[in-house]
Amino acid sequence: MTNLTRRSFMHAGLGFSTASTLTTAGNAQTPRSINGRPSLYQTRLGRFRLTALMDGLAPLKRQHFFGEDERLIDKTLNKFGVPASDMSVPLNVYLLQSSEEAILIDAGMGAFDLLGTGFGHIISGLDVLGLRPSDISKVVVTHAHPDHVGGLVSNGRAVFENAELAIAEEEYAFWIDAASRARAPEGLQPLFNMAETALAPYQDRLILVANKGEVAPGLTLELSAGHTPGHSLLHLDGGDQELLFIADTVHNAELHAALPRAGFGFDSDPAEAAESRLRILDRAAVDQILIAGAHIHFPGFGRFVSSSNVYRYLPTSWI
Ligand SMILES: [Zn+2]
Repeated sequence: MTNLTRRSFMHAGLGFSTASTLTTAGNAQTPRSINGRPSLYQTRLGRFRLTALMDGLAPLKRQHFFGEDERLIDKTLNKFGVPASDMSVPLNVYLLQSSEEAILIDAGMGAFDLLGTGFGHIISGLDVLGLRPSDISKVVVTHAHPDHVGGLVSNGRAVFENAELAIAEEEYAFWIDAASRARAPEGLQPLFNMAETALAPYQDRLILVANKGEVAPGLTLELSAGHTPGHSLLHLDGGDQELLFIADTVHNAELHAALPRAGFGFDSDPAEAAESRLRILDRAAVDQILIAGAHIHFPGFGRFVSSSNVYRYLPTSWI
């Protein structure tokens, strides 16, 4: 079982205790939104049509990042031109279409209120593509944090009425198991409530996936624990091209590439998350694999390169 403590939340100034605390703080601090207009980018990856959809902007703060020399964090942000006063990052969701399926990778924040307003643009994005929620055949959830599962549900009902829901066994067990919830600090209970609310309408079409399990032809789930106990990557083999969806491995691409051991406020186990991050950065750099990140500059495609054991994020503007 993961070493779940209040530690990371306390570091991040997120020692909240109730859902209303979250809501109030979020509303007051949201610096920007995408004003209801869908943002999307569509390309091809091998035999798949791949679309990046932006659900909203997550108003991250400097204090969400900790565990390294604070001056080094500030120096690194300055080096890459990231303003410490506003570290907002996008919330990217990906749609994969093949001749057989329309698969969403994560569902966005939807109507959940954790980080303020300005989220919930996945459905309008699908509409631009001529798709209805009922056209989605499967949703694969990388982890059950609110910004990744909130869009699954509206007023207690499944938004994607015809979709199966695939999630790692470990991730599902962590958020649903009563004993695991009982062990978690009070401050985390709102996250458990939201995970339960989002997953409940899909009980009859749930696919629990083992590590290295195939969730669809060419799409394989790989556990990468730390951010959450069952945080998952998805490897896409498109035939002549491959792509690694790294979900929440990095919460600021420049900072986390340069300082992979920097903790993040919502990591359930910051040390384990750092080990996973280092492993993925190394693999991405050695294999020169294209990656996509849930919180990397929209549309979120890029690569990690390494020189003298220092990693750096290189955006791939358009693929
Ligand atoms: Zn996230």
